Amino acid sequence: MLHHLRSFLFLLVLFSALSVAAWCQEFVQVKSVTLPELVWNTNTARIALRNTAAQPRTVIINVQARSHHGSGWETEHSLAASESITIDREFTMPPFPGKATVVISIREKGGAEIYKRKFDTEFGLENKRIGKLHPPQWFIEWNPYKQSPLAAEYPPLDMARRGHFVFYYPDNFAYVQTHLTELAEARDRAYNYVRKSVNPSFNDDVAVYLFPDLSTKFAYTGHQGQGWAFDNVLVEVFDPLHPNDPERTDPNHELVHIMTGPLGNPPAMFNEGLAAYLQVDHKWQNHPMDDWARSFDAAGMLMPINRLFALEEIGPKGTRGWVTYPESASMIQYLTNHFGFDKVMDAFRELKSGAPEQQNAAIFERVFGVSLNTFEKDWRTRLNEGNSHVPQNLVEGIQKEIAEDEK
Ligand SMILES: [Zn+2]
Repeated sequence: MLHHLRSFLFLLVLFSALSVAAWCQEFVQVKSVTLPELVWNTNTARIALRNTAAQPRTVIINVQARSHHGSGWETEHSLAASESITIDREFTMPPFPGKATVVISIREKGGAEIYKRKFDTEFGLENKRIGKLHPPQWFIEWNPYKQSPLAAEYPPLDMARRGHFVFYYPDNFAYVQTHLTELAEARDRAYNYVRKSVNPSFNDDVAVYLFPDLSTKFAYTGHQGQGWAFDNVLVEVFDPLHPNDPERTDPNHELVHIMTGPLGNPPAMFNEGLAAYLQVDHKWQNHPMDDWARSFDAAGMLMPINRLFALEEIGPKGTRGWVTYPESASMIQYLTNHFGFDKVMDAFRELKSGAPEQQNAAIFERVFGVSLNTFEKDWRTRLNEGNSHVPQNLVEGIQKEIAEDEK
């Protein structure tokens, strides 16, 4: 049924495109479109148009820029009868390395497309083609961090290479400028520690973006939240007023994802569990993983192994991240202590996120020599031999957050 509906919709679209072409005459001509050398952040396309009609016309310009991440919007422009105009149309190139494209398309309002062209470029991991950022009005209004409104203009990002890392940060971010050596040394220690732990042959460079707060990170990247990682890119909020904030992004966590990316893609219990386990001092927000798991067990909040093992990721609604990150990490810690880290990495390589549960359960049993259910029982028995030092009000707060999230 769905299939038929789709082909029907396709025909409908084809028909309306044909009808526009057949019955509408286009009066606006595109005389020229010129782009400067593309940079990260704001660029300006110069577009010259001529209205050949004896009536006013309206055109719509759509510019879509993509550099790993997409950014684009439409603007409307009016032309008086017989008028020629030149429009300086700003657009935002997301500030990320790799192949990048800009697609400009122009149409008359209510009419067919009169111009479309794609421009290509590539930005290196060490990129110096970086401009200022002027967020468009709709983006300023969209800002989810209402208590810190976006600025009309942001400075270019500065770039600095230190060892395996290429740092990017707003060029007015004084804290990073004055602490760069120290920040780079800490990153370097994290790089070596994670590499030695999970993937000794890893030697790639990593780009690290540091922003002073959530709204500045959002302004430059369009991404919401404290931290973000993809390919060899880390994007983080680094609050200089609270350099030891327990909620600050852990220096190891995302590096584990980057360095284990080439090894496999196991279920979240192993993927996120390993990244959380390898956090600084094996701690989750200042407390050992086992302490969190014990407190959650006492409060009846643990996710049962069969559900946890089936999760493809942790974070989305219903995955109970507050509980399942430290719970998974505590399990990885137990597996490491009882069977050895090599076995954990064997399982990491062999398990497949999204594969049938029985298939993954069989791999688990083969690698560790115990069934999932026996493992869960042993882990909980061992867990309850100790005490938790996580304050009870934190656990109750999480319980409330979960109830709210799952309402
Ligand atoms: Zn993670």
